Amino acid sequence: EQMSRILKIEELSVYYGQICAIKRINMEVFEGEIVTLIGSNGAGKSTLINTIIGLQKATKGKITFMNEDITKVSTDKVIKRGISVVPEGRGMLASMTVLENLQLGAYHKKNVIEQNLEKVYERFPILYDRRLQKAGTLSGGEQQMLAISRAIMGDPKLILLDEPSLALSPAYVDKIFKILVELKKEGMTILLSEQNAKKALQYSDRGYVLDLGETVLDGKSSDLAGNPAVRSAYLGAD
Ligand code: ATP
Repeated sequence: EQMSRILKIEELSVYYGQICAIKRINMEVFEGEIVTLIGSNGAGKSTLINTIIGLQKATKGKITFMNEDITKVSTDKVIKRGISVVPEGRGMLASMTVLENLQLGAYHKKNVIEQNLEKVYERFPILYDRRLQKAGTLSGGEQQMLAISRAIMGDPKLILLDEPSLALSPAYVDKIFKILVELKKEGMTILLSEQNAKKALQYSDRGYVLDLGETVLDGKSSDLAGNPAVRSAYLGAD
């Protein structure tokens, strides 16, 4: 079977002034995969996600999405082309209602709002119950559920999630990853970053290990989870 490549990153480098945050990274994501970026604090995960979505400028290298060069494309245009992001800290608009947050997720595709709202409410009845409540009053796990729902409101082809399990209870971490696996089954492609790699490797297909802005390892998630170097550095084992 031939999997089609949805994202390709070639020799990407990103500098903040003199500071190199991403150094000559190469990476591929294929349609229908869940791919994990593993790395400790400061490894460059957020920078990579922000650069793909156009919030951060690439210093060198190339980013291709669905066979089109998006390296220098602005964030709103990247979103229109079909990438959406769940930023670190969820990017919730706390003083807006659940419904308003969801509507914002499809600001560029207003014709699908009603039908996608129905789908989201069907998937997460709690968001329907709380639709008129301010997003800031939801629990951390519910906010992450809302952030993911907002990201799928505009029918993206690729979702980027920056540390989706951050500050969630263990039960909610599993819940969030199970949601991602469901989305994958529906044909979505997912790239996520995680400091706590254990769950991410359990639920993803492949992973890349970043260290000080460089890819030091990559492979099938099951292989990475069994790799002694990964285990001691990122899985809190051995
Ligand atoms: P975290 O989990 O803490 O977000 P990360 O893996 O996402 O870590 P980045 O936030 O991408 O890492 O940071 C990569 C490197 O770039 C770090 O050395 C960081 O200090 C530096 N950095 C990040 N943002 C900036 C900025 N706006 N200006 C200067 N340096 C930055």
